Amino acid sequence: MTAYRTRSIQLHDFGTPPTLTQHEIDAPTGSEVLVRVTGAGVCHSDLHLQDGYYDLGGGEHLSFRQRVTFPVTPGHEISGVVVARGEDATGATIGQNVLVCPWVGCGDCPRCVRGYENLCSNSRFLGVNRDGGYAEHVLVPHSRYLIDLGDLDPARAAPLTCSGLTTYSAIGKFGSELDEEPLVIFGAGGLGLMAVGLLAVMGKARPVVVEIDPERRSAALAAGARAAIDPTDRDADEQIRAAVGGPVLAILDVVGAGATFAQSYRLIEKGGRIVIAGLLGGDTRVQVPLIPMRSISIEGSYIGKLDELRELVTLVRTHGLPDIPVHTRELHEAPQAMDELRSGSVVGRFVLVP
Ligand SMILES: [Zn+2]
Ligand SMILES: [Zn+2]
Repeated sequence: MTAYRTRSIQLHDFGTPPTLTQHEIDAPTGSEVLVRVTGAGVCHSDLHLQDGYYDLGGGEHLSFRQRVTFPVTPGHEISGVVVARGEDATGATIGQNVLVCPWVGCGDCPRCVRGYENLCSNSRFLGVNRDGGYAEHVLVPHSRYLIDLGDLDPARAAPLTCSGLTTYSAIGKFGSELDEEPLVIFGAGGLGLMAVGLLAVMGKARPVVVEIDPERRSAALAAGARAAIDPTDRDADEQIRAAVGGPVLAILDVVGAGATFAQSYRLIEKGGRIVIAGLLGGDTRVQVPLIPMRSISIEGSYIGKLDELRELVTLVRTHGLPDIPVHTRELHEAPQAMDELRSGSVVGRFVLVP
């Protein structure tokens, strides 16, 4: 069997910096496809993987310990070109420009059977539970996880598989209300800017963005937000209500912190919906009677389905990619890119181009 020489960025334990490693990767067999990576987005979840936990607030953590085997190559926002395929990998063409859906489930549980592989409890996600895209090559278990990119720019398209899909699926939970009523988006990091850009591509009402960082507020306005408000302003709630121009009925929280939920919970009005897709961490106090009295919905949204990713790619191949800043970096620059993302200084998305 031929093997391919490759280089990848590997994590060897939690809490340690990743390193660049040269090694061999086996040729694909069966339904597998080998993809040469042309874009790998650096996502905040990669930092959670490096840390080994999510912050639940109050000093509590949710550990990755049971779910990760080291060494592991991070990276779940992957575009590439098909270079080899197993004998059963139908539907993949050598030389094809593809997006790789990393959200691989067990395939057998009730959630997988219903198409929600992203919610599988026995996930085999690329870049989390098995090697991902911070590499020259990635082995994809089945050609069904490949989506044709046509002539879309692979570096700009790579973030579609996580920040794109996560926001697309979350926006979908609001239905047609967003055609007329502006969504309030908490956060203008990778996910928030993607949400603003996608709403524009989808022809929805221009959103109101709430973000602490002034540069990110500017980026949100440039991406199409109708207003960008600093939540630390004394009159921030009034500014948000004024920018919405009516009752606040739709809030998307892509930060997912105690403070953003507290503000969302305070702002949302009768019949409204809060969708939380961010995982930053923390906790807050909830006054239970205000949930039924206002008849509000509080919904979590975790990535999205393979079918939704296919829909999203069809959408952007017709209407264009969301216009958000993408900064390309070489593979060996991954550790610095992760550190910069952690420092909070990045506006837009880092994409590794091996
Ligand atoms: Zn991600
Ligand atoms: Zn499953």
